[in-house]
Amino acid sequence: MMPLLELKDVNIHYGQVKAVKGVSLSIQEKEIDVIIGSNGAGKSTILRGISGLIPCANGEIWFKNRRINNISGHRVAKMGISHVPEGRRLFPKMTVLENLKIGAYLRVNKREINNDLERILERFPVLRERRDQHAGTLSGGEQQMLTIGRGLMSKPDLLLLDEPSLGLAPLMVAEIARIIQEIHNQEMTIILVEQNARLALRLSNRGYVLETGKIVLEGGSEDLLGNEYVKKSYLGA
Ligand code: ATP
Repeated sequence: MMPLLELKDVNIHYGQVKAVKGVSLSIQEKEIDVIIGSNGAGKSTILRGISGLIPCANGEIWFKNRRINNISGHRVAKMGISHVPEGRRLFPKMTVLENLKIGAYLRVNKREINNDLERILERFPVLRERRDQHAGTLSGGEQQMLTIGRGLMSKPDLLLLDEPSLGLAPLMVAEIARIIQEIHNQEMTIILVEQNARLALRLSNRGYVLETGKIVLEGGSEDLLGNEYVKKSYLGA
């Protein structure tokens, strides 16, 4: 089967800093794959490269059989990739509802948009409760839910999730994990980037271990959970 997304020998630089070095990976439709790695390994940079926020120095990115690493972020989004960035970049002075609607800015069918909005408010009851509140007044976990909800409002074929558990209390981390699992169960293809390797590997089908811009290990998530190197370096065992 053709993968939904494929990276071939991708390099990404910030000036002199070589943040991503020869990364190849492929994601099958309806899978959830994770990229784990410590702070600064280059995980966010890979997602930014996929969504067209930064150019690749070289290599190729293919999505739905089309090469996308030479087109704008706007067009990548239109093709069906939604990037949920780290740090919940919401509009704090806008309401929950307004933030969600912004996620649908590329869509035109009002009826479908309203149906999806309704589905998202069902999935996140707390967002319905707070629909008219300013996003900036939500707790960290609620803001993370809103960021994910906004990402879903574009009705993507591929969802990129950057560190959704970052800075959240353990109970909220478990809640976010449950939500990601549910979204995946409804056949969404997801790439998840996480420092919390245990959580990420438990949620996913396949994992990639990234160290200083290079993939050093990859495999089925269950195998990685049992891998001695992963245990020692990432699972604190
Ligand atoms: P984190 O969890 O901290 O976001 P990460 O694995 O996502 O880590 P990246 O943010 O992708 O790592 O960063 C990879 C490397 O690129 C790091 O060395 C970082 O310092 C560098 N880097 C990231 N953004 C920039 C930038 N805008 N300009 C210059 N260097 C950058």
